[in-house]
Amino acid sequence: MVKKIETALVQGGRGDTKAYGFVNPRLARGSTVLFPDMASKIETGKHALEPVEIYGTYGNDTHFALASVIAEIEGGSHCQVVSTGLAAVTTPLLAYLKAGDHMLAPDSVYGPTRSFCNSVLQRFGVATSYYDPMIDEAGLRAMMRAQTRVVLAESPGSHTFEVQDVPMLARVAHAGGAKLFMDNTWGLHHFQPFAHGADVSIQALTKYAGGHSDILLGAVTVNNEADWKWLREGTLELGQYASPDDCWLALRGLRTLHVRLKAQEKAGLEVARWFAARPEVARVLHPALPSCPGHEFFVRDFSGACGLFGVVFQPEYSAEAVVAMIDALQMFGIGASWGGYESLALPTKGAIRRSEGTGVFEGAIARFHIGLENVEDLIADLEQGLAALRMAR
Ligand SMILES: *Cc1c(COP(=O)(O)O)cnc(C)c1O
Repeated sequence: MVKKIETALVQGGRGDTKAYGFVNPRLARGSTVLFPDMASKIETGKHALEPVEIYGTYGNDTHFALASVIAEIEGGSHCQVVSTGLAAVTTPLLAYLKAGDHMLAPDSVYGPTRSFCNSVLQRFGVATSYYDPMIDEAGLRAMMRAQTRVVLAESPGSHTFEVQDVPMLARVAHAGGAKLFMDNTWGLHHFQPFAHGADVSIQALTKYAGGHSDILLGAVTVNNEADWKWLREGTLELGQYASPDDCWLALRGLRTLHVRLKAQEKAGLEVARWFAARPEVARVLHPALPSCPGHEFFVRDFSGACGLFGVVFQPEYSAEAVVAMIDALQMFGIGASWGGYESLALPTKGAIRRSEGTGVFEGAIARFHIGLENVEDLIADLEQGLAALRMAR
């Protein structure tokens, strides 16, 4: 029976609901796994590609339970849980690429991903070129090289929220013999990466899956045995591991993900629309609003949004004025990351490291994450924040 998303989130990784036992899977911790004799140790060791307890680093039932839910909600066949969201980006790249290869990454990519490409990958002989996230098919084809083995997508883009034409990216990548890796953190289950042509899906579970700003965790999902083999073997070779305590908390977070996300999507849209009607605002970079680049792909490919979006202020307001506004807010925390139950605000200044000529916006940008507080309270706070913006101009 194909389960709907709410059911998959509630029942996934729990085994038989009619069996004797606690509701939740146990939290298992361990390094050494004991075997009754050498023959069974050797035999078990042959099953490293399966969810089998072999040694601590291979994962245990807590990891496997979480991985099975992520694979199911992303529509993939196998999932590897790793230590952080950033590790979910770097692990498949290190596992798949080799010296001499080339990769294409969107100019709107998550900043630490860009740093990794420009430092570690570069040192190991892998070149990265950055493409405009809104590039058309002919433009992307022209950027493909004989050595291009990965096209990376991140949709919507970090901080600037361009929604990408993922099926087109997949078409071009596959025609050139490359794989499409996708950072699907914003989309969660609202975007089905494999149904749209991606080969590898990346999730920072730190965000909405954790949901309470108290864990760091990542997941890499693929959709066939061949991709699982290089991903699983590469992960083990790199010594990637995630704390079972954090996996257990992520699994607990997933049970309520659907209702939290629904509430934060609704509140986020309310605040985004409020911003859009304000004279201080040039436009709102919320994928569900027509003012966001690639909105048409959001309408075509996504089943919903989360509570994270950007606001571009009118050019008369300086970046410093936007900082003054954020400092004046009482209910919005100032801090990195998002996806928790609490609201956050961050100026985008300095966070866009863009190649020349792309991503030119009208004015200073700030990023807002809308939490589970009362929306009227948040809007009242933003109202007085805008007064501080006008004063600082
Ligand atoms: C936060 C984030 C990551 C990294 O997650 P961490 O757990 O903080 O390492 C990766 N990609 C995107 C799009 C993110 O927003």
